[in-house]
Amino acid sequence: MHCWFECIRCGKQYSIFDIIYRCEECDGLLDVQHDVKQLKRKSAQYWKRLFDQRTRTNEWPYGSGVWGKKEWVCPRIENRNVVSMYEGHTNCFWAERLGEELGIPDLWVKLCGNSHTGSFKDLGMTVLVSAVKQMIADGKPIRAVACASTGDTSAALSAYGAAAGIPTIVFLPKGKVSTAQLVQPIANGATVLSLETDFDGCMRIVQEVTKDQTIYLANSMNSLRMEGQKTVGIEIVQQFDWEVPDWMIIPAGNLGNVSALGKGLLMMRELGLITKLPRIVCAQAANANPLYLSFKANFEQYRPVKAKKTLASAIQIGAPVSYERAVKVLKEFDGIVEQATESELANAAARADRAGLFTCPQTGVALAVTEKLIKRGIISNKDRVVVISTAHGLKFSQFKVEYHEQTLEGIKSKYPNPPIVLPATVVAVRKAIDLAVKKMKRG
Ligand SMILES: *Cc1c(COP(=O)(O)O)cnc(C)c1O
Ligand SMILES: [Zn+2]
Repeated sequence: MHCWFECIRCGKQYSIFDIIYRCEECDGLLDVQHDVKQLKRKSAQYWKRLFDQRTRTNEWPYGSGVWGKKEWVCPRIENRNVVSMYEGHTNCFWAERLGEELGIPDLWVKLCGNSHTGSFKDLGMTVLVSAVKQMIADGKPIRAVACASTGDTSAALSAYGAAAGIPTIVFLPKGKVSTAQLVQPIANGATVLSLETDFDGCMRIVQEVTKDQTIYLANSMNSLRMEGQKTVGIEIVQQFDWEVPDWMIIPAGNLGNVSALGKGLLMMRELGLITKLPRIVCAQAANANPLYLSFKANFEQYRPVKAKKTLASAIQIGAPVSYERAVKVLKEFDGIVEQATESELANAAARADRAGLFTCPQTGVALAVTEKLIKRGIISNKDRVVVISTAHGLKFSQFKVEYHEQTLEGIKSKYPNPPIVLPATVVAVRKAIDLAVKKMKRG
C-alpha cells in the first residue's frame, strides 16, 4: 500500500519521509495522496466491516481510532514505529436538552476533546510523530520536532514526543494561551519558548528555524497531521451506522481541521462508503475572521487579517496556512462560513454547559454559529446536525470561572451561576436552597 506527498498546485510528488513542507518547484502545499486504485480493489462493505471490527479490538495499533483506519491514513508506517495513545473513538454526544431548546432535536456534539491531551490535535499528532520515529529509525538525522501553537498543538506534540523519547520544542505566544495549555508541554519535558508576539509571529520564526533539516516541523502545513485528523468525519459517519448527517459545524482557525474533515469524507465517497455529503460550516471568531471575510466576497479576494484577542484563543489566527485547502472543501460541500462575537461565543458555551456539556470557547463559537443558522432557517428542525467540539472545557477553566464571576471584559453573562457564600448556619442554608429550587423551576 502506498502513499506519498503531492503538491496541490503542480502535482509534483515526494516521499512522505522526505523532510519537506512545501513544493520545491512552486512553493505549493503538499497533500498526502493514496493509491486509491489499490484501495478500490476492496469493496465498501469490506472497509466498513474492517473498521467496525477494529473499533472493538485492542490489537496494536488498530485499537486506536486513527490506526484502525491505517490503510487510509498512512500505510507506510511500520506498526512498531507507531506512537499512539489510542486516540479517537470519542463520544458523539446526543445533545438532547440543548437541541430541544434550540428547536433541533437531532443535535449531536462530537467530543474530540475527550482525548489524551484534551483536544483533537492528538488525531494528527499520532501520525506525524510516528512518521518521525520511523525516519529516525531509518537513520535520518532529526534532533527534535518543533511547532508554533495556540496551545493545543504544543500539548499534543509534547505528549507524543515524550512517549516516543523524541525531543520537542514549542513556540508559544506569550500570555496568549491558557495556563492549563502552557503547563502540558512543561510537564511533558518539552523546551517551551514563550515569545513576545502572536501565533502568526511564532509561525514565522518556527518556519525559519526548521529550515535546518535536523529540526522537523510539526505545524499543520505538514499534511501528515491531516491524515490523522481526517478520521474525525469518517468516525462520525461510522457512529451513525454509516449514515451521513446533514450538517457538520466546525470551529476554524488555521483551517487544517476543516480541510482534513473534507478530505476524509471525500475519500469515503470515492471508495463507495457513502453517496451524499454533509454541508460543512466553518465557525470563526469575529475577532479573527479572514475566512469569513473571504466567504462574504465569494472567495474572490483573500486578505490575511491581524487577529484580535479572542476568548477562543485556539483560533486566534489571522493568516491561516490551509486557506486554499479550506476553500476547496467549502466549495465541494456547499459550505458556509459564519462568525460569532465574544458575547455570543461565551453565552453559547455557557448555555451548552447547562445542558450537560463542558465546552471550550472554540466549541462556543461553533454553537453560537449553529444558533444563528437555526434562527435564519438555514438549518431546519428535521436536520441532523453534528457540532465538532475541538477541545475539553477543562483546558479553559479560567474562561468559565470568569464567565460565572461575570468578570469577563465586555461580556454580559446571560447564565451566570456563581457559588453562594453563606454563614455556616442551617437557617441560612435552608433559605438559600428554597430560593435556588424556585429559580431552577422557573428555568
Ligand atoms: C487547533 C484548534 C482549532 C482550530 O483548528 P485549525 O485546524 O487550526 O482550523 C480549534 N479548536 C481548538 C480547540 C484547537 O486546538
Ligand atoms: Zn508544486
